[in-house]
Amino acid sequence: MNQRFSGIGMTSQRTRARMLERLRAQGIADEVVLTAMNDIPRHIFVDEALASRAYEDISLPIGFGQTISQPYIVARMIELARGGRAIGNALEIGTGCGYQAAVLSRVAKVVHSVERIAPLIAKARKHLREIRINNVKVKYADGTLGVAEFAPYDAIVMAAAATHIPPELLAQLGMGGRLVMPIGPETQKLTVVERTPQGFQQTEMGEVKFVPLLGGVA
Ligand code: SAH
Repeated sequence: MNQRFSGIGMTSQRTRARMLERLRAQGIADEVVLTAMNDIPRHIFVDEALASRAYEDISLPIGFGQTISQPYIVARMIELARGGRAIGNALEIGTGCGYQAAVLSRVAKVVHSVERIAPLIAKARKHLREIRINNVKVKYADGTLGVAEFAPYDAIVMAAAATHIPPELLAQLGMGGRLVMPIGPETQKLTVVERTPQGFQQTEMGEVKFVPLLGGVA
């Protein structure tokens, strides 16, 4: 293993253990999610110049005006998407550098992840290959309306902010499935929608700040 993988100094397992302690202190309680956060090396997903900051609770630039979310938000969204259940088929909208997809791959059987910026797709695929994750399928497309072809999903996680919940995403949720997405303009409300036999149950969690969901591909 080279240094990038074995992790010396700031990228070591000890640094990751500190990140885990912080996540627990911030209220992440799902052990499956915490284990996944511990297993996935976040420094692999950011530029080498930023690797020493990879385990701080901050968002970091990944190029093309986009950012990788802070670890707390990634963990929280996946915790909400799981809702204590095992996930079979998952959809992520906004692959970015692939980090959240990698964490999701540890709590879901299959992850379909869609991204509209072509060079980010290439980066994400490279990162996922580097750590030998093969249950994430990355797709180059506009994910505004979800990805009908692989529906239904047990979980849909949107990593970009929309102004409303696209009805197509609700239609692509399986029974008992959960959609987690930020809704709003400047700052957003992290929103969870669960599909129950009685209908869709919507819950608003805290305020968050995400890059906007954009239409078309780039
Ligand atoms: N989950 C990512 C975070 C990426 S930031 C990670 O772990 O790195 C949000 C991403 O959503 C950006 O890469 C942006 O290009 C993408 N995005 C925005 N609108 C989109 C759309 N309509 N379809 C697919 N991806 C979109």
